[in-house]
Amino acid sequence: MIVNMRYGATDQEIDHVIERVRELGYQPHVIRGAERTIIGVVGKSQAHRSELEALRAAPGVEDMIPIAQPFKLVSLELRRERTVVNVGGVLIGGDELVVIAGPCSVESREQILETARALKAAGAHMLRGGAYKPRTSPYEFQGLGLEALQILREARQETGLPIVTEIMSTEEVDVVSEHADMLQVGARNMQNYPLLRRLAATPRPILLKRGPSATIKEWLLAAEYLLAGGNPNVVLCERGIKTFETETRNTLDLAGVALAKELSHLPVIVDPSHATGRRSLVPATARAAVAVGADGLMVEVHPCPERALSDGPQSLDFRGFEEMMRGIKEPLRRAAAATAR
Ligand code: PEP
Ligand code: MN
Repeated sequence: MIVNMRYGATDQEIDHVIERVRELGYQPHVIRGAERTIIGVVGKSQAHRSELEALRAAPGVEDMIPIAQPFKLVSLELRRERTVVNVGGVLIGGDELVVIAGPCSVESREQILETARALKAAGAHMLRGGAYKPRTSPYEFQGLGLEALQILREARQETGLPIVTEIMSTEEVDVVSEHADMLQVGARNMQNYPLLRRLAATPRPILLKRGPSATIKEWLLAAEYLLAGGNPNVVLCERGIKTFETETRNTLDLAGVALAKELSHLPVIVDPSHATGRRSLVPATARAAVAVGADGLMVEVHPCPERALSDGPQSLDFRGFEEMMRGIKEPLRRAAAATAR
């Protein structure tokens, strides 16, 4: 339920509604806009619905509207203003397209420092790199763990690029939060509810990848766990879903990106590397993502993809990354011209 307070409602009136919502056993989520305050009422309660609806008569309340979607706090119905997530000074969901780049895995200090310098020079805004890797086979490279986090931190110190890295279990939350600016929930963990609940209580922004077989609704409900638990700084990432097609690693759901933006106020970015599994397809799908309104991109880049310990075939080299960056400027220029018209 959305409680719309009147323009000019007093703090006392707002506090009274919040108190009554709590008394009825629901959780109030207060959104203070420039013009007016909105109180989102979520949760389950034994109270009669009519008791909640009676709040329509409370002083300062203008109206109350039910939220049709099952994801309440994530929904654009509740919050009309788009969320902008600040990651170490980089704004995701604002006016500028944000490009996150880096190797699939952190392999060595030299690899990361060289990559971070090249990416920064080419215009990337953030650095990615896996320290704890979710590998399909237990015999594959599993990541350097803490050593990788320290290397990433050094790269941030030198280049100023904020770091995002994947977190696989609740046990790693403290150590990864200490080193990284943003925590990535990988596709395989999108529905790991104990992890989501724990991450809801961290002050770090979260990059929530869509599960390979998750519907848009399931993806947004996973984000709802984070917001309901108290972390409003969530960025959604489409990384391709499983379909019958086997020529590409996954199928990039571009309509899903546009729909997620239609349904939610959260920023949405696209990972064309995991979506396609092929380096040659990354620039074209990156341009397409920009054209459908993605707020950013996350791409894998390696100094020498043929030697990569993971995801080499889908990684761009530095030259490939520079070319991709040049390529995405064109749809951006066209979009700006269209808005100006
Ligand atoms: C990754 O970003 O390297 C990764 C493992 O991604 P996903 O969870 O989308 O497979
Ligand atoms: Mn990868």
